[in-house]
Amino acid sequence: MIDFRSDTVTQPCQQMRLLMSNAQVGDDVYGDDPSVNELEHWAAVRHGFEASIFVSSGTQANLLAILSHCERGDEYLCGQNAHNYRYEAGGAAVLGSVQPQPIENEADGSLCLKKLEKAIKPDDSHFARTKLLSLENTIGGKVLSLQYLALARSFAIKHQLALHLDGARVYNAAVALNVDIKEISQHFDSMTICLSKGLGAPVGSLLLGSNAFIKKARRLRKMLGGSMRQAGILAAPGQYALTHNVSRLVEDHDNAQYLANQLDLLPGFSTQAYRVHTNIVFVDIDEQLDIQSISEQLKKQGIVITPGYQGMRFVTHKDITRDGIDKLISALTSYC
Ligand SMILES: *Cc1c(COP(=O)(O)O)cnc(C)c1O
Repeated sequence: MIDFRSDTVTQPCQQMRLLMSNAQVGDDVYGDDPSVNELEHWAAVRHGFEASIFVSSGTQANLLAILSHCERGDEYLCGQNAHNYRYEAGGAAVLGSVQPQPIENEADGSLCLKKLEKAIKPDDSHFARTKLLSLENTIGGKVLSLQYLALARSFAIKHQLALHLDGARVYNAAVALNVDIKEISQHFDSMTICLSKGLGAPVGSLLLGSNAFIKKARRLRKMLGGSMRQAGILAAPGQYALTHNVSRLVEDHDNAQYLANQLDLLPGFSTQAYRVHTNIVFVDIDEQLDIQSISEQLKKQGIVITPGYQGMRFVTHKDITRDGIDKLISALTSYC
């Protein structure tokens, strides 16, 4: 299978599987799992936080973050396109009674600080209490600049807001900016990292923050049924992902650019309205083409895509090679 739908489809490599079978484990709810403890300690130090917690998914990491920063009747500011507003089943509102206040994302993925300022509620019994600003990097494959992150930090201090980063793909941002991850993480009170996307681990995310914050998140994780027992079997490949699979993300970014260039040569395909920033390619497709049936044809050849017309998305990752891209392009050429 050559699967362009997402970087979540990556298969754990042989070394990861070996680490999984040999991982030292214990009951993590008792704090006894050496592999989980090592990952949580290592990740906290590596990213410049006091503590971290290993959780089942990026969605759970974001939910724990919002519920740890906010109480019932508080609100968080976020992007209209934010994963933790749009794609997490309204979890913060449903499970935490925390109100989202979405703001339209700018073209570069950022949130305009002037618009955010207007959205902060006055201290008045009519309103929810604005407590948190949540950013996302990368967002739709776009990288927020370090200058913007510094401005967001000052903004959060000025308005006494906590600042969270949904960093599901934050390593793609660091690699694209060619900076150490701490250049990004230093600006935030809390941050998530997905180990199961481009980094290639099978399962899991990290949430990072202060000791008190992570302690609160740990209680909430238990409440949500998210505490796992011999979770070291998952933490071990997660740590491998963070130590071995970061620098290679540049290949995914190069491949994404290559894919975009090749798609542009096909009649009826245009990436002109977009730019490739990291590992995500968007393309507009001529409505004359029956992309649904093309997608079904491709599937018979072992090539999987998510069909669409406006801004159809392709994602590159470690299991997509140049050769795989050439196969896709030559298959598409025969249908267009
Ligand atoms: C994938 C993703 C998540 C959620 O991660 P899951 O592990 O799929 O729950 C959160 N935020 C962003 C930006 C993501 O891309």
